[in-house]
Amino acid sequence: MSEALAAELEEAKHVIPTLEGFTLVTCVPAQVRAGYKQTDYKHVNVILQFPDRYPQEPVVIQLTSKTLSERLLASLVRMCDEDVRGRLGQRQVLPVMRYVREFIVNNPLCVACDEITAIKRHLIAEMDKLKLKQELSAVHLKIVQDLYWMNLKLTVPDNYPVEQVSIEAAESNFPDLLKKFFVGQALEIARRCAQPPLKPKPRDPPFKPRPSLLEVCQFLVTECVKRYPQLNCPCCRERVMLRDPEAVAKDPRKRVERVYCGHLYHHGCLAKYLKTPPFKEGKFCPDCGKQIFHEKWRLPPELAEARWASKQARQRELAEVTDFLS
Ligand SMILES: [Zn+2]
Ligand SMILES: [Zn+2]
Repeated sequence: MSEALAAELEEAKHVIPTLEGFTLVTCVPAQVRAGYKQTDYKHVNVILQFPDRYPQEPVVIQLTSKTLSERLLASLVRMCDEDVRGRLGQRQVLPVMRYVREFIVNNPLCVACDEITAIKRHLIAEMDKLKLKQELSAVHLKIVQDLYWMNLKLTVPDNYPVEQVSIEAAESNFPDLLKKFFVGQALEIARRCAQPPLKPKPRDPPFKPRPSLLEVCQFLVTECVKRYPQLNCPCCRERVMLRDPEAVAKDPRKRVERVYCGHLYHHGCLAKYLKTPPFKEGKFCPDCGKQIFHEKWRLPPELAEARWASKQARQRELAEVTDFLS
């Protein structure tokens, strides 16, 4: 062992345990091994080995982790390697340790690396946008379908995945009612990833939190933003969200209503359907057969029948008057 290496190891032995988050495991000429832990899931082992011509040659770096993705570790090794190649002839052990720590601290989204890759590869299309805001630990998405779009902000908390992602629908041109519904459902999906069920079944294995980012994005992108603009109204069979999002303002009858079964109707179509017989035993969704409940039209069948009858009678009277006058 060279004197230079001996001196460097002596320094490392003293300094590494004082670096925040580090535990020194081994510090001998054959190997330096230390663990860096920011949270239970941001935990990485750094293993360094010294080639014969060290420090004229770069130290050999290996990173392992039970929680961080292989792909992330491989690219972090490449970055560390590039950094030490700029330090040939100098001490490299502490710089590697500091580099690893800085990377984990400055890239809080590293804990969701595989999920983010899956979102990029499988969920978003060419016209959509995904931006990582490492300084905010957030993923910003703009999802587009036809002329509809929604901006979403998903924030990955510090102790992810023990804590779930938070979800915010920023601007969008979706009806407010749908935006609220999308976010509400997405929050529930995220909650189920991070919190045990309220009523666990006795045979269930013990609850373990799981990552929520990808599941939430799958729902918001595939099940919501990409899907809803393509749905048809169960009554008129036309697109329930007008192809031109601006057109709804001019025609309130084309406003979207969501009923209990989850199907969407044009306001006008639903109103007409609910006020037209048969009323017996209630009104049912033509698409799924479930009974329609909607807070705006909570009429018992008898009352609906009576109203319909009186409207018909009025129309007959009116027709008689018109006949009489003509
Ligand atoms: Zn309709
Ligand atoms: Zn339905």
